[in-house]
Amino acid sequence: MAARRPGSSSGRPAITARLAAERQEREAARLTRRTREIHARDGIDIGIDGRSLRNFCSNDYLGLAQHPEVIASLQECAAWRGVGAGASHLVCGHFREHRELEEAIAQWQGYPRALLLGSGYLANLAVVQGLLREGDLCVQDKLNHASLLDGARLAGAELKRYPHGLLDGALRQLRSRPDAAALLATDGVFSMDGDFAPLKMLAVLARAEGATLYVDDAHGAGVIGPDGAGSVAHAGLGAREVPLQLITLGKALGCAGAVLVGQDALIQAISETARPYIYTTAVPPPLASAARTALGIARRESWRRFKLAAMIARFRRGAQQLGVPLMDSSTPIQPILVGSNAAALTASQRLEEAGFFVGAIRPPTVPDGRARLRVTLNAMHSETDVDALLEALSKALRNVAEPA
Ligand SMILES: *Cc1c(COP(=O)(O)O)cnc(C)c1O
Repeated sequence: MAARRPGSSSGRPAITARLAAERQEREAARLTRRTREIHARDGIDIGIDGRSLRNFCSNDYLGLAQHPEVIASLQECAAWRGVGAGASHLVCGHFREHRELEEAIAQWQGYPRALLLGSGYLANLAVVQGLLREGDLCVQDKLNHASLLDGARLAGAELKRYPHGLLDGALRQLRSRPDAAALLATDGVFSMDGDFAPLKMLAVLARAEGATLYVDDAHGAGVIGPDGAGSVAHAGLGAREVPLQLITLGKALGCAGAVLVGQDALIQAISETARPYIYTTAVPPPLASAARTALGIARRESWRRFKLAAMIARFRRGAQQLGVPLMDSSTPIQPILVGSNAAALTASQRLEEAGFFVGAIRPPTVPDGRARLRVTLNAMHSETDVDALLEALSKALRNVAEPA
């Protein structure tokens, strides 16, 4: 598709012409994306296009984003600290609030040390780039978050993926290069499927193969396991078996940013060498303060986790009764596999007309032909909300897969 620049004699492809062609291809494949503007938010209700919708696609699992204490922390801190940190951590942007948050997360997780980064996306880039060198081996589950895959590219490491959850596959990939330094990286809870990684066995495997195990627990932290400590704790593991893991602040904790917890030497290396830590402004101190408050609430108010678990159980029970097909997930992420992009969009649209906001997830976020509705449950949902969603879901899915 060598569309030429008008008035140019060069044979160079014009970027804008190429973009237009690609956009057309996305339209044909029902893969265009757009943001939906939220103009009101009240717990699980969001205002979009002048209508109030019950939100079933937020990762604010515990309902902490609008918690009055969290908001007050942010405001109080901002009143005397200001908003922006003013610089990166290593220059002059590292505030007391950052250290206090790192210590609180490390203590919660039972790790010796923690490091705050701007987002989970950046943290994953930082881990892989901080720990691996050109030609090292990075073994990953095929369904890992995009940021982990991108991290391997940034590091210049050799990325080898294994079929989702398959220990044999992970072992084969590690053994393919027994002499290479290796990082074995996995999501704790998979973000689009909602299932757990086989962490116990992966830990055994990493140990046997001399690889470092890294768990990205963006969706487990705050929600799963004893004290809501996440999927590593849920598997009965800790800092010895999983020397490094990622806790994000934008999901169950309702804030933004991410904290790595790990063995001292790993955190030390990342903090001194990882570009996504060094070359970026520190998160605003008021946000760190708010996140620490959110963590305190998440731990203290364990009823939020138990309520969420009850809503998950109710959703699954009801779905089975109504014949709504579920995936094998016991987490707040409850995807409904639809298949085609068009069918997922139609079902999502029908739900919106019925007053529910549920995202349609399409490639490349999920593999081709595996488009889905991604329902996420929340501690703020009531039994009535869940029942009403199920009713709407079973209607929305009727005849949805038939070719238009
Ligand atoms: C959301 C998510 C991230 C990215 O975290 P952000 O803080 O939103 O950048 C990383 N990994 C997984 C598994 C996620 O679900």
